[in-house]
Amino acid sequence: MGSSTIYNTLNTFVEHRLVVELQNGDGSTHYDYFGTPHYHAICTNCGKIVDVTYPGFDKDEKNLEERTAEISGYMISGNHMEVYGLCPECQAKLGITQKK
Ligand SMILES: [Zn+2]
Repeated sequence: MGSSTIYNTLNTFVEHRLVVELQNGDGSTHYDYFGTPHYHAICTNCGKIVDVTYPGFDKDEKNLEERTAEISGYMISGNHMEVYGLCPECQAKLGITQKK
């Protein structure tokens, strides 16, 4: 496969949410397959869901599961994290400017 074929294939995966596209600090793009831990950010206004991950999220997730096992005695099989808020489009629609 030529590199453009690989790139097009990756774009298809991104469109179908099989991979997450992460911009590295140096401007290059890094792809992660979605066997990789991620969580969901959900817009409470329009319901849009985006997949979110960050370097070290796998450790946070492991920590969450281990702590849960310790505290509850459950044998952990997985987790599903959701974070709620207003997406950028809805913020713009509602005239909200986010403080940075
Ligand atoms: Zn929204």
